[in-house]
Amino acid sequence: MIKDNIIIIKNEIIEALKKSGRNENEASLIAVSKTKPVNMIKEAYDCGMRDFGENKVQELVDKYDRLPNDIRWHLIGHLQTNKVKYIIDKAYLIHSVDSYKLAKEISKEALKKNVTANILIEVNVASEESKYGVSVEECESLIILISKLPGICIKGLMTVAPFVKNEEDNRLVFRKLKQLFIDIKEKNIDNVFMEIMSMGMSGDYRVAVEEGATYVRVGTKIFGERNYNL
Ligand SMILES: *Cc1c(COP(=O)(O)O)cnc(C)c1O
Repeated sequence: MIKDNIIIIKNEIIEALKKSGRNENEASLIAVSKTKPVNMIKEAYDCGMRDFGENKVQELVDKYDRLPNDIRWHLIGHLQTNKVKYIIDKAYLIHSVDSYKLAKEISKEALKKNVTANILIEVNVASEESKYGVSVEECESLIILISKLPGICIKGLMTVAPFVKNEEDNRLVFRKLKQLFIDIKEKNIDNVFMEIMSMGMSGDYRVAVEEGATYVRVGTKIFGERNYNL
């Protein structure tokens, strides 16, 4: 089941890359394993998956200790400043930085552990009130501030698009993030590397890849529905 899902999604990613004139290796799949048990993650691992996404610090840390150490753990959910210290040397990439306060804490903890923290800036492209993320308008000034912090490296942008029934409805959201990505890249800000665009989930990853995603974050379509009442 998990294996079949991964094969289907990977093929669709390749199709979307071709359709938009990009190379086959220009977008990668992150398996979002939040709420899912270690044995299911192991199954995906045995199919060759190495990138996994978690949205809770405690869950990431637990799974980190119990699973192979060549897994790249992506922290994709909101991060509280008081929890940064637990994941600073465990997360391969933090996708959800949206404030200077959080970035300062990441910088401080990275220096303590003598690591460089790779981060994305989360942008609330559709200005949804319920969502985290900096606004499109404030993104560049936040990046300029964060770029001056030691121990931290900005690798790109991330967005969580609105929940829609028809994935086409998110095309403009993804296009807007891509435009922002290009605009910031062209500024050549010191210590800012616009290489990664993390966008697209189970319902809209094809369109996200067509619009330039380099990572898609897919949970439900790989592991099935999540049951939060367990
Ligand atoms: C849960 C989650 C996903 C995956 O969502 P699915 O719809 O299950 O694919 C992707 N990104 C973030 C930030 C998430 O919290």
